[in-house]
Amino acid sequence: MHPTDISRLVELLDEDITAFDCAQLCRGADGMAYCCKTQNFVPVLYREEQTYWNERGAHWQEYPVTVKEEAALSVGQVFCSCALSTCQRDLRSLSCRTYPLEPYFGYSGEFLGLTFLATASEVDRETGRLRCPLSRQYRSIRQQFINKTTLFFDQLLALRPEEKEAYLQSSRRHRKRHRECGIQIIVLRPDDAVLEKINL
Ligand code: SF4
Ligand code: SF4
Repeated sequence: MHPTDISRLVELLDEDITAFDCAQLCRGADGMAYCCKTQNFVPVLYREEQTYWNERGAHWQEYPVTVKEEAALSVGQVFCSCALSTCQRDLRSLSCRTYPLEPYFGYSGEFLGLTFLATASEVDRETGRLRCPLSRQYRSIRQQFINKTTLFFDQLLALRPEEKEAYLQSSRRHRKRHRECGIQIIVLRPDDAVLEKINL
């Protein structure tokens, strides 16, 4: 990905997800947000993106993962950690900026909106709490964030159409979880309509 593409995508993800600091909902005793601990979430960066941020003062470093985890990546992606105890918000990766959301595609492959990563909406076995509390408090997510993040994924997939298949598979898994375990699929749409149906 060219640096100008990355700049354009970063601009789209400059909105705050909520009107308040959502880390208030999940911060541990160590003061860190749940999603900023590598045992909970490891951001995926494009290799060019890693260079892009590090040239601007970040310290994104490759993070060791299992062979299975690495196999799930698209070409040119790498798991990274930011090595920060206090976030430098301007140097957040694209992956940090979209967490806890991903695109949701309907049965016919149409892009319907954004849904929560399965790993964000599960209960953490260690704490017994929801991994990302926003997956329950989704009405706190700002509409402008939803609008811009939807546009971001639209433009990202235009640049990297090969990534669509992974999101299609993920959407199918969401439907399977719903059918088998009754887990609700929440879709946040850019037009302000929240869909909470099963037949998406
Ligand atoms: S996105 Fe979720 S897990 Fe991350 S800081 Fe906000 S509430 Fe916590
Ligand atoms: S850059 Fe900020 S948001 Fe991203 S993992 Fe590091 S501390 Fe968390």
